[in-house]
Amino acid sequence: MDNCIFCKIIKKEIPSNIVYEDNQILAFRDINPVAPVHILVIPKKHIESVIELSKDDEILIGKIYTVINKIAKQENINEKGFRVIVNCGEDGGQEVKHLHFHLLGGKKLGVKICE
Ligand code: AMP
Ligand code: ZN
Repeated sequence: MDNCIFCKIIKKEIPSNIVYEDNQILAFRDINPVAPVHILVIPKKHIESVIELSKDDEILIGKIYTVINKIAKQENINEKGFRVIVNCGEDGGQEVKHLHFHLLGGKKLGVKICE
């Protein structure tokens, strides 16, 4: 947790381009965007990945999706569409071990979601 880059972003120890914040959730622009809109939506609670989720987190995860809905409208990608991706673990290509939802849009995304 002490070495978690996203926890540092939450604590504002590392700068980020924040697009949404409340007491439980933070959303900021990905530093290395792969689409015109590439935003990471994260819980402020340090949860390593989907595998570390518990029943207590169910409401929080639901809230993350309503935040994604809000940001999609804010970013004007609600009508044309977008993609939400959550990588988990080594095979899933998760690099940062703090649960995060990639919100991708602003262009027609490729059909390949795995290779
Ligand atoms: P993942 O591969 O799913 O773990 O994705 C981690 C994402 O975090 C990558 O898309 C990175 O570009 C992004 N990232 C890493 N460090 C930062 C940072 N300091 N600010 C914003 N995005 C970051
Ligand atoms: Zn963390």
